[in-house]
Amino acid sequence: MEFEDMFLRRELLMGIFEAGFEKPSPIQEEAIPIALTKRDVLARAKNGTGKTAAFVIPTLQQVDVKKSKVQALLLVPTRELALQTSQVCKVLGKHMGIQVMVTTGGTTLKDDIMRLGENIHVLVGTPGRILDLAGKGVADLSECPVFVMDEADKLLSPEFAPVMEQLLSFLPKERQVMLFSATFPLIVKDFKDKHMNSPHEINL
Ligand code: AMP
Repeated sequence: MEFEDMFLRRELLMGIFEAGFEKPSPIQEEAIPIALTKRDVLARAKNGTGKTAAFVIPTLQQVDVKKSKVQALLLVPTRELALQTSQVCKVLGKHMGIQVMVTTGGTTLKDDIMRLGENIHVLVGTPGRILDLAGKGVADLSECPVFVMDEADKLLSPEFAPVMEQLLSFLPKERQVMLFSATFPLIVKDFKDKHMNSPHEINL
């Protein structure tokens, strides 16, 4: 399958080709068409497989820029990964007019509050800071239908797991969950059983 066969918006295709992606990687070929049907996706994927674009492309495709609401939450375990992921969103979404914001423990809360007063469509960050912003009512996730977890094995580690549970309560019940993880410890299987809706499983 080619990117042109995935019914993607022209502006998104332009971003993909400008990024130098000619053909989808195997994980993209499997994940993107399924994710575009809004079905939950659970993928075993290592770094270097193109997994970031595998969830960023269907995420961007589903954003309505005319709506001034956070429509996708991309959670990652580290600041470094948050910056990288938001960069991929910006590069692939360059022609779409989508506003991407990254927030981690390393940015000041005041700056985040100001930025969230603007029109943000995609929020990328680490669990603690996102929960802080949602709990304070600064980040409104009530109409955020897309929820992505990258490196979910780390996101569900004992350090983050309680934060993750609380964060989910700020998201709408009707939501699409895309979960990517290199390993599948019991805690990830538990999360799948509790919070995902018959996900399409990818094991490449
Ligand atoms: P990731 O697994 O998301 O960390 O991506 C690994 C690398 O592959 C990154 O440098 C991406 O820019 C690159 N990449 C992702 N998808 C494609 C593609 N379809 N064609 C060429 N390069 C890609």
